[in-house]
Amino acid sequence: MSDVPLTGPLQRLIDELKKLPGIGARSAERLAFHLLKATPEEALALADAIRATKEQIRPCTRCFNLTDAELCHICADPRRDASTIVVVEQPKDLMALEATGLVTGVYHVLMGRLAPLEGIGAGDLTLDALRGRVKAGDVREVILATNPTVEGEATALFLGERTAARGIRASRIAHG
Ligand code: ZN
Repeated sequence: MSDVPLTGPLQRLIDELKKLPGIGARSAERLAFHLLKATPEEALALADAIRATKEQIRPCTRCFNLTDAELCHICADPRRDASTIVVVEQPKDLMALEATGLVTGVYHVLMGRLAPLEGIGAGDLTLDALRGRVKAGDVREVILATNPTVEGEATALFLGERTAARGIRASRIAHG
């Protein structure tokens, strides 16, 4: 591929693709030329999917999982055991656990973990909402499925103590 800068929309597309994680200059060019060769339907399906995702996807009002509705499909499912809450750091962690098919309960996404060195404290996570769910009753067990990192372990310890203080069973999920 040429190193001569392209002008106009094609260069703009390459510049946008280059901003994506794991996409270097050469990959961005390859993808841009691929899209240029694709049919209008194929190329615009990608554009539409990006637009729809940005416009429609939002956090579940109960658990902060990603959804295009008020409640995510898990919270809205009456067959799920609402007395067991599995606490995870990010929506992608929820998806990974959900893919195992082993979770019968519901989730709570913290949207991060406690990381004092990065200035991320309890107020930056969705802890108030979690407290509200536990306080509302019906919760018998909280399973702490934060990641097996130093921060994830510290977050689990923090939440475990808080939960136990309320007389609710708290357990740590086994990793690996
Ligand atoms: Zn939900």
